[in-house]
Amino acid sequence: MDNAGQQFIGGKRRAGAASEELSIINPATGEVLATDTAASPDDVDEAVHAAHDAFPEWSGATPAERSEAMLRWADLLDQRQGELAAAESNNGGKPIKLAEGFDIPGVIDNVRFFAGAARNLDGKSAGEYSPEHTSSIRREPLGVVGSIAPWNYPLQMAAWKVLPAVAAGNTVVLKPSELTPLTSVMFAEAAQEAGIPDGVVNIVTGTGSTAGSALVGHSDVAMVSFTGSTAVGRQVAATAAGQVKRVHLELGGKAPFVVFDDADLEAAARGAVAGALINSGQDCTAATRAYVQRPLYEQFVARVAQLMNGVRMGPVDDPTTDMGSLISTAQRDRVAAMVERARKKGAAIACGGYVPDGPLADGAYYAPTLITDVAQDSEIVQQEVFGPVLVCLPFDSDDEALQLANDTPYGLAASAWTGGVFRAQRAAREIRAGCVWINDHIPIISEMPHGGYKASGFGKDMSAYSFDDYTNVKHVMSDITGDREKSWHDLVFTGR
Ligand code: NAD
Repeated sequence: MDNAGQQFIGGKRRAGAASEELSIINPATGEVLATDTAASPDDVDEAVHAAHDAFPEWSGATPAERSEAMLRWADLLDQRQGELAAAESNNGGKPIKLAEGFDIPGVIDNVRFFAGAARNLDGKSAGEYSPEHTSSIRREPLGVVGSIAPWNYPLQMAAWKVLPAVAAGNTVVLKPSELTPLTSVMFAEAAQEAGIPDGVVNIVTGTGSTAGSALVGHSDVAMVSFTGSTAVGRQVAATAAGQVKRVHLELGGKAPFVVFDDADLEAAARGAVAGALINSGQDCTAATRAYVQRPLYEQFVARVAQLMNGVRMGPVDDPTTDMGSLISTAQRDRVAAMVERARKKGAAIACGGYVPDGPLADGAYYAPTLITDVAQDSEIVQQEVFGPVLVCLPFDSDDEALQLANDTPYGLAASAWTGGVFRAQRAAREIRAGCVWINDHIPIISEMPHGGYKASGFGKDMSAYSFDDYTNVKHVMSDITGDREKSWHDLVFTGR
C-alpha cells in the first residue's frame, strides 16, 4: 500500500492536514491501494502560496525554456507508461487495455502538443490601426490557476487542466478527485524531475466541500478551471462570480447518437457499443441516446444487444477484459437505481440491467445495458447516467431527429451516422454541441478543442483554443506622432 501521502505542494510530497481520512481503493476489487489524510484549507493555502511564489520565474521563462522542460516531462512519462497505466487501471477500475491504449498515450501526446503550442501563442499582428498609434497584443498568463478534476479519466483530466495553463506561463494547484489521486501525484513528480520549478504544479487531494471550495474561494487564485458535474459546476461559478474570477467549466453530457436510414447499420451498431461502453460509460461524451430512423430501428436494437452481450467484463489487469467496474459501489447503485426507475415506468431492457454476481460481485460492476420503450422526457433520456447504459428511440423524419438530439439541457458531444453528405453537414450545423462526429463517436485529438454548449459548460480543453481561457489578451497602444496636442483632445477641451 502507498502511504507516502497524496499531496504534492511546493515540490514536496506529504500527507494532508485535514481530519478526514482518504481511502483510495481499486473499485474492481475493493482492495485499498493507499490511504492519506485529506488536504485541509491550510494545505490549499500553502499550495496557492507555492504557486504564487513560483509564478514570476515560470511566467518569465521564455516559451522555448518552458517547452523544453515540458518535452523532458513527456519523455519521463513515456518511460513510465507501464507504471502509470497500472495505477490508472487499478484506481479507476478500468481495463488495462484502455489505460495502456488510450489514457496514458493520450496524456503523453498532450504534453508534447502543449510543449510545441507554448511557442506558438498567437494574436492579431501589430500595426497602425489608427494613423497616430501602433497597436500590439501581448498574451499574458493569469497567475495561479485553481483546477478541479473528476474521477473518470484521472490523468487525462489532470493533463487537460494543467498543460495549457503551464504552457502559457501560469502556475497551478490541481485538486484531483479524492477517489483517484494516484496518477495526478505521479504526473506532478515527473514535472519536478523534468526540471519544472517547484510550485509550478501542485496537487492537493481532498474532498470537494473542504479542499475544493477552499481552492475556488482563495483570493490569490486568478482563475478556476473545473471539470465535473453540472451541479457542482454551478456552485463553482457562483463562488467565482462573487470574486469576478475567470471560470472554465467542462460539465456533464448526454450525447445523442443519430442513425439515419442511409447509414451503414453494422458500423453504427458497433460504434454505439464502443461509444456507450467506453470506460464503463463513465465518459462525458459517451453515446447515451441512440435515435434510429424507423426502417433500421429493430435491426439496430437487435444487433447492439447482441454485441453488448458479447462484451467481456472481468478483472481489470486481464488484457482480454473489455469492460471494468464503475468507480464505486455508490456510483453502481446510482446507475442501477436509474435503470430500475425506468423499468418501473415501462421501459424494456433489451440487454443487461443487472449487477453481475460470481467473481465480479466484490467490485462495482454493472452489465452493459440497452433500454428501449422510453419517453423522450423521461429521466433516463434526459439525465446523465454515467454508466454503461444506452437508450434507443425511433424517429421518422430528419427534422424530428435533430429536434430530439437537441432536446436535453446538455450539449457536449453528438454523432450522426449517414452515407449522405447533405445530411451529415446538416447534423453538424444544427446539433448544438461542442463536438459532432460523423460516422464515428468518441475519438479525440490533442490539436482539436473539447468543450461544451448549454449546461455542458464553456471553455475549451486541449488545442490552441484553450489558450483563450488561460491567458489575458492585453492591448498596448503607443503614440507614434510625438505631438503634445493630440488630434482628439479637441473633443474634450480646446484651451491653450
Ligand atoms: P463532481 O462534480 O462530483 O466532482 C468533480 C470534482 O469537483 C471532484 O474533484 C470533487 O471533489 C470536486 N467538488 C465537489 N464538490 C465541490 C465543491 N463544492 N467545490 C469545489 N469542488 C468540488 O463530478 P465527478 O462525479 O467527479 O465526475 C463526473 C462528472 O464529471 C460527470 O457529470 C461528467 O459528465 C463530468 N465530466 C465532464 C467532462 C467534460 O469534459 N465536460 C469530462 C469528464 C467528466
